[in-house]
Amino acid sequence: MRDQFGRDLRDLRISLTDRCNLRCIYCMPAEGIDFRPPEELLQDDELLLLVRVAADLGVTKVRLTGGEPTVRRGLVELVKNISGTGGIEDIAMTTNGLLLEHLATPLARAGLRRVNVSLDTMDPAKFHRMTRGGRVEKVLAGIAAAAAAGLAPIKLNAVVVRGFNDDDVVSLAALTLERPWEVRFIEMMPFGSVGDFAEAGVVKSEETMAKIEAALGPLAPLDLSGQDPARTYRFAGAAGRLGFVSPVSQPFCAKCGRLRLTADGRLRLCLLRDDEADLLIPLRRGASYEEISEIFRAAAFRRPFGHALAEKLFPQARVMIQIGG
Ligand code: SAM
Ligand code: SF4
Repeated sequence: MRDQFGRDLRDLRISLTDRCNLRCIYCMPAEGIDFRPPEELLQDDELLLLVRVAADLGVTKVRLTGGEPTVRRGLVELVKNISGTGGIEDIAMTTNGLLLEHLATPLARAGLRRVNVSLDTMDPAKFHRMTRGGRVEKVLAGIAAAAAAGLAPIKLNAVVVRGFNDDDVVSLAALTLERPWEVRFIEMMPFGSVGDFAEAGVVKSEETMAKIEAALGPLAPLDLSGQDPARTYRFAGAAGRLGFVSPVSQPFCAKCGRLRLTADGRLRLCLLRDDEADLLIPLRRGASYEEISEIFRAAAFRRPFGHALAEKLFPQARVMIQIGG
């Protein structure tokens, strides 16, 4: 499956829920967010049908996200069924890691290959502030459990926010000296009601990288091709690597082949645009497999080229917790 710009579409990110056991400052407002009633979210059978449609159209990689995917009921069974879908070669998950301590092994057995765990800081007080109440020790235990369960490679995601964790990038980067992990620094993106906050507090990758190199020494490039959104580097002799994801300062739209399915059954055509196609209503109206497949394919084809952050335009309809990153 390709879009109108010829980009190959093999990567589907599925949001399993719009709920979360954290409340990160860049992902949702402090209050005033409307969670969908459960009946307006994709049920397991509906989701599995859409995965089959996607796989038949050429999707090979699935990433489960949210909200927090580990709070979804029946997650292990769902992973098992997705991994049993013909054509799906790789299942990964982006998680805050809080519940991984007990879920990592059953998920690995069900067919999950890899996890990206969000970790903005290892400082307990700063973590508590950025997540509005989270305990970092639980996340660290979750990462250890993921490593023990063989979920590899482990990637850690840190959104860098000025005044909150911009001094913590050095200790996070230093983790890669000893551990075979990829620590990724992400530029904060503006969405809806947290858009102004994000624009004011964004730290560009160049600044993050300069701070890290000043403290820990030079970084050698590994992959700057743009095939992966992260540009990766390594310290001499390090076990792991660093990634810089720079949607604001160095957009990678030209090589983006990602589609997103929201928990309420919309195919989102670009993370940073409000364009979506509704799949839930046709599913519930009893549309045939062929009809759903055609809606999916046609929507994917009309993906916009990319975002318009340079023109100061950002999506208004949803914040990140309602999309799935
Ligand atoms: N709850 C899971 C987690 O935190 O990993 C999965 C969902 S979360 C929306 C996915 C990723 O999006 C996380 O790594 C999070 O840090 C990132 N994210 C959320 N809001 C963001 C923003 N405004 N800009 C950049 N990244 C953001
Ligand atoms: Fe929850 Fe993840 Fe958003 Fe934090 S980034 S509020 S953990 S969905």
